[in-house]
Amino acid sequence: MLIYQNRTRSPFKTNLLKWYDENKRVLPWRHSDIASESEVHQRAYGVWVSEIMLQQTRVETVIDYYNKWMKKFPTVRDLAEASLEDVNTQWAGLGYYRRAKFLHQAAQKLVSKQPNKEDVVKLPSEVKDLEELPGVGKYTAGAISSIAFNKVAPLVDVKQDVEGGPRPGDFNQSLMELGALVCIPKNPKCKSCPVNEQCEAYRLKNQNKITSVEQFPVKKKKGASHEEVVASLIIKFEDKYLFVKRPDKGLLANMWEFPTIDITNEEEQTNKTITSKIKSDLLVDDRILQITQIPEDDLKSLKITNCGQITHVFTHINRLIHVYSTEIVSSTGVANDATKWMTHDQLSTSDVPTLVKKVFKQYQDHVAGGRKVQTTLKLKKRKVEEIEEEISADSDSD
Ligand code: SF4
Repeated sequence: MLIYQNRTRSPFKTNLLKWYDENKRVLPWRHSDIASESEVHQRAYGVWVSEIMLQQTRVETVIDYYNKWMKKFPTVRDLAEASLEDVNTQWAGLGYYRRAKFLHQAAQKLVSKQPNKEDVVKLPSEVKDLEELPGVGKYTAGAISSIAFNKVAPLVDVKQDVEGGPRPGDFNQSLMELGALVCIPKNPKCKSCPVNEQCEAYRLKNQNKITSVEQFPVKKKKGASHEEVVASLIIKFEDKYLFVKRPDKGLLANMWEFPTIDITNEEEQTNKTITSKIKSDLLVDDRILQITQIPEDDLKSLKITNCGQITHVFTHINRLIHVYSTEIVSSTGVANDATKWMTHDQLSTSDVPTLVKKVFKQYQDHVAGGRKVQTTLKLKKRKVEEIEEEISADSDSD
């Protein structure tokens, strides 16, 4: 929505920086008291982490995650040396786990080139070099380069004559701050905007040439989302539940989930066909057989319970999940890289995706619903018995 007129370059920048100096929020990754070279690189790490977190998440939410992250992984080296599991645990709740995985990979890439443990790991200062890191695109590279290293680096598609000049890092941050506080997508605060005199959208609106400044920027059409149907099976043994690791590429890569199978054909979405597919395709998965050690024939005769359905929306995927459960009475195999058991408590504190927690909640609700029905039936049965006893006592006394 922000469009400025080129000829008014100077007031635009001056006004914006003045407003930024007076209105910027205090954020933990904004440090101005930087003196040494190692502090600059440490700040670059903080800017990088915050920018990756902010890609899909609001500032208010990110602050807490950022502080915890920096406490757990205070340096690039600490992050590189952590396990992906620890990294995902710190990330849990922020979603889009690919971001955490890329941060981890990028840290390892940097450390592999700077093995001396005594040195602060340096981030590149140029956009083109930063873009070589996994998960760092043009915008993030521009933010790190300008904010941490004070280099002239565009964040948005603006003309060079506006980007240049002193304080390139602050200028980029002032643009971000304007977008967060004033030039917001819905009902931007144009009247109090520090650059409304230089704003082309505002001018067009005042001249009645457009109906709203919100018409800018013209939004690209989103790619069509597609539907997916799967069945997830909760396998219970004693007080534990079986999890399998997802492939290391694609959606939710390397994350733990309940054993899940695609249901591709619409005709398959009946209880009978899904149950049969779980038995014929899912329960005979090598990973499941290896940890449970239950003979295939026994697995096939297991009671499979339908616990209902839930939906979950990823960026471009609407997923329908049929939730099923079963219980096994023995499991003599050992866990491996691709499978593990987790208790309810372990699940509550683990970094499994939100979707997995939703599946488990559906299962719990189903179990609780079943218990409620059973309790009601027992109470009804007891009442009938009491009435029968009373009738029988009455007839005896007659
Ligand atoms: S005048 Fe309105 S549309 Fe233009 S930059 Fe300011 S808030 Fe955004």
